[in-house]
Amino acid sequence: MCGIGNQAGEIEDRISFATGQPGETLEQVIAYFKDKGVEAIGIGSFGPIDIDRKSPTYGFVTTTPKPGWSGYDFLGTLRRAIDVPFGWDTDVNSAAFGEAVWGAARGLDSCVYFTVGTGIGVGVYAEGKLVHGLVHPEGGHILMRRHPEDDFEGICPYHGDCLEGMSAGPAIEKRWGVPGSRLSESHPAWRLEAYYIGQAVAGTILLLSPKRIILGGGVMKQAHLLPLIREEVKRFLNGYVSANEVMAGIDSYIVPPGLGDNAGLSGALALGLEAARSK
Ligand code: ZN
Repeated sequence: MCGIGNQAGEIEDRISFATGQPGETLEQVIAYFKDKGVEAIGIGSFGPIDIDRKSPTYGFVTTTPKPGWSGYDFLGTLRRAIDVPFGWDTDVNSAAFGEAVWGAARGLDSCVYFTVGTGIGVGVYAEGKLVHGLVHPEGGHILMRRHPEDDFEGICPYHGDCLEGMSAGPAIEKRWGVPGSRLSESHPAWRLEAYYIGQAVAGTILLLSPKRIILGGGVMKQAHLLPLIREEVKRFLNGYVSANEVMAGIDSYIVPPGLGDNAGLSGALALGLEAARSK
């Protein structure tokens, strides 16, 4: 998805096309931006990616099962074609940033953004900055305490029963034989889903103490899931974190994206603005 926006965070134009081979995909990206006169470009990329500015492979996609993208110089290809400042981060960090600048975490100096869809990603914004480190957070693959009545082996090719392996959209489908969108609200799938997502959110609260948690992505379109997750978070924390936000105020602490499906695109816009400012 590509778009053009302004300093107020308004998206003025957008286009989307399927992600194919990297060369042909970026040709379409370049064609879109080439004559638009943009001042900067922000990129929120699927990962894992290299975000270490000192690395010789800064701007590359590192390891991915997406055909052709592993080891591809994503950022460099765009830079050679369009001479503007670039911001570069993961898609989930980008979404977290968009929510912090214009969305559900506006005015706060920290938030964590979970996307629960075909995979699970976790973007972390802390003390007014996106968190990077050795690489970037990969919270979708944290290890989970298994539900005592759950014998599903999980679907992550690396870990089996990590968070993504147990609760991403394809895990729901594999476990129950139908996609989540076809399961009724009263189906036991949702309690189990809330058990795993709630556990991950509780762990995140304990580890990072973010001021807001935002849950987005395709699976979270099941609006009835959010209250179940809040319940599980409280159950896992069991009163240990004595902040009103996770007690009486949990409905305004664990929230859907304020920017809806625009979180990623808005975040990329915010990354672009930041790149323009720091030029
Ligand atoms: Zn995993």
